[in-house]
Amino acid sequence: MEVKIIPCLEDNYAYLLIDNTNNTACIIDPSEASPIINYLEKNKIKLSFILNTHHHYDHVGGNKKLKEIYGAKVIGYIDDKKRIPEIDFAVKNNQIWKEKNFEAKVIHIPGHTSGHICFYFFNEKKIFTGDTLFSLGCGRIFEGTYTQMFESLNFFKSLPYDTNIYCGHEYTLKNSEFCLKYDPNNQNLKKKIEKIKEKLNRNLPTLPTTIKDEIECNIFLRSENLENFSKLRDLKDNF
Ligand code: ZN
Ligand code: FE
Repeated sequence: MEVKIIPCLEDNYAYLLIDNTNNTACIIDPSEASPIINYLEKNKIKLSFILNTHHHYDHVGGNKKLKEIYGAKVIGYIDDKKRIPEIDFAVKNNQIWKEKNFEAKVIHIPGHTSGHICFYFFNEKKIFTGDTLFSLGCGRIFEGTYTQMFESLNFFKSLPYDTNIYCGHEYTLKNSEFCLKYDPNNQNLKKKIEKIKEKLNRNLPTLPTTIKDEIECNIFLRSENLENFSKLRDLKDNF
């Protein structure tokens, strides 16, 4: 399974998962249809599935058009079936979603929205975290509680260190400034920031990141208790 990163809108990423053995693909969080159509047409790939991490427009904006053109099936969280446009398959927490050669575990990670999920492709050690876990940051808490977000983030710490993380936005540099301000002596963070800047200078995405990097550098994953996490989340909202 190959992952192609497709920039959308201002700073969103959609992820095209390509099964080269039969030229089929899934798209994760298509913010808009046209950049994805362009890629599919150019490379003669058929889109079979659309996977949404949550209902925000910048993650589902392309659903309708992509479904119209390719007949792709839309997969989203069961409790959000009224908010995910064109949903075909409603999935539950801890369910294994398996179609063709694609196999992922669905994990409910509320906080940013009440129905936020991630897709964990455990065979490939790749996880698509939407707007819950960012590189060096986490999503704003819009619908959930601090406790929910804290627990959702803690889930990621249980994954293998070499798992690749694909996030919904390119927020890494801005996030790194916040981490550095409140964790100024973190040498791993400083090294990570160098790598981030190198990538951005070459116009490359800073993603994927890894569980190891995030545990070492992401201040939100490093907060040891709910109180500390909540304080940081509030500070970040006004950063
Ligand atoms: Zn969102
Ligand atoms: Fe978003």
